[in-house]
Amino acid sequence: MMTMNANCPLCTTDGGELLWKNEEMRVILANEADFPGFCRVIWNGHIAEMSQLSVDQRARLNHVVMLIENAVLETMSPDKVNLAALGNMVPHLHWHVIPRFQKDVCFPGSVWSEKLRAQDPSHLNIQLAKVPGLKQKIQELLGVI
Ligand SMILES: [Zn+2]
Repeated sequence: MMTMNANCPLCTTDGGELLWKNEEMRVILANEADFPGFCRVIWNGHIAEMSQLSVDQRARLNHVVMLIENAVLETMSPDKVNLAALGNMVPHLHWHVIPRFQKDVCFPGSVWSEKLRAQDPSHLNIQLAKVPGLKQKIQELLGVI
């Protein structure tokens, strides 16, 4: 039986625009205005740490994270992909898959670091235009909901 927590935003909502899900996990597009194409792979059950998953569960989660990384690389053409599993604010297992660009507001810091420059609107618009292709690629790879 899946562990749920009524006070957890990732138990009570999808946590973003839902792109795909199965019984174990889901993929969402995050609503992060400065970082188009920012995806999260969220384990459905309320657990905090990777080590709480079985070896097979970890392998399946990692496989989906890698598929999303590949989709981001192929469709967003970032300078770098950042993978992160922090969970300090919301201790519910999720992986951030973040396309990063040298022109983005925090590069080379993390997306949670202090902003180093103002958003460049032309850069932002170029990245925003790639997001429909990213969503389509993810749904091709994983299947439409
Ligand atoms: Zn939760």
